[in-house]
Amino acid sequence: MLIDIDASQGEGGGQILRTSLALSMCTGTPVQLSNIRARRPKPGLMRQHLACVQAAMAVSGARASGAELGSQQLLFEPGPPRAGDYRFSVGSAGSCTLVLQTIWPALLQLDAPSRVELSGGTHNPMAPPVDFIERAYAPLLRRLGTDVELVLRRHGFYPAGGGELLATVHPAGPQGLQPVDVLERGALRRGHAESLIAAVPYNVAERELAVVGRAMGWAETQLKPRQLAPQEGPGNVLLATLEYEQLSEVFVSFGEKMLRAEQVAQRLVADVRRYQASGAALGEHLADQWALPLALAVHRSGRAARYTCSELTDHAHTNFRVIERFLPVRFTTEAAGSAQSVMAQPA
Ligand code: ATP
Repeated sequence: MLIDIDASQGEGGGQILRTSLALSMCTGTPVQLSNIRARRPKPGLMRQHLACVQAAMAVSGARASGAELGSQQLLFEPGPPRAGDYRFSVGSAGSCTLVLQTIWPALLQLDAPSRVELSGGTHNPMAPPVDFIERAYAPLLRRLGTDVELVLRRHGFYPAGGGELLATVHPAGPQGLQPVDVLERGALRRGHAESLIAAVPYNVAERELAVVGRAMGWAETQLKPRQLAPQEGPGNVLLATLEYEQLSEVFVSFGEKMLRAEQVAQRLVADVRRYQASGAALGEHLADQWALPLALAVHRSGRAARYTCSELTDHAHTNFRVIERFLPVRFTTEAAGSAQSVMAQPA
């Protein structure tokens, strides 16, 4: 069987490629993608997307045609994934975490751990920052029965990159992933903000944190400027970590040229407030990234699972539809007050 996917549908971005590669490897099903990123200003596979294809080929010994820069077609025929020691260079500041997310669903289903060294961007706008994976995503994965450990050896900011990340992916064990409901976040136990700053004036971090501190009512001890070695930059990212009884969420806002530190902070505060007001368990990014491992668990166990989230983006809806092409799992959604509720059930 070959699954044919028009990758320009829905949100039409790189996520369709990554989800397809991940589930093609997990299910051993070849996939043919057409119109990859067709509606983007630079259509087709960009370097970071090609890095995902190459990583998936290495992990599963796949054959591929169309694995070239700019290509809008890809035929990917996986072999059996193998645990091992891998090293991938994403090049420039392509996101290390997005490459990792492409291969770990396959790696966690094996019977031995894998070690994956990645170089590229570790803190990229439009991709999960390492801190988000470590503090928000990985703890949720542990509840499904698997684990990933991350060591951030060097930060890499867009556009210079040069970051280094080491990930150890632990297998889910003989009973495989088990689904869990994630419906509540529970009470807020702790919160803090960090501003990481590399080769950017230090007072940018202080100004950002002052705005966050005032808006969130956080004390000095909850506001942490962190100066990184200048060669890790230039770059600046402002992070808010909220630890609830049942899970943690991480929000980010990136410093940009021509954007005042206060505005960077206000963007972050607006994201945090939107999430808090929704009362949901997961924020918008966890909501789209949680769908894939949860669907594997639902499929494996034959049991349905639900989660609540603050928002369902086009990314999330598109991801649901791509996952449904590979696994006999159906996603249904409904509004639940100011939040959204998602159910994944065996089809
Ligand atoms: P495009 O084809 O549009 O250029 P892309 O390949 O760069 O896309 P997307 O398809 O946009 O990537 O997917 C980005 C992924 O990164 C999504 O899963 C999204 O949830 C995640 N992401 C983006 N920003 C954050 C963030 N601040 N925190 C956590 N995850 C994030």
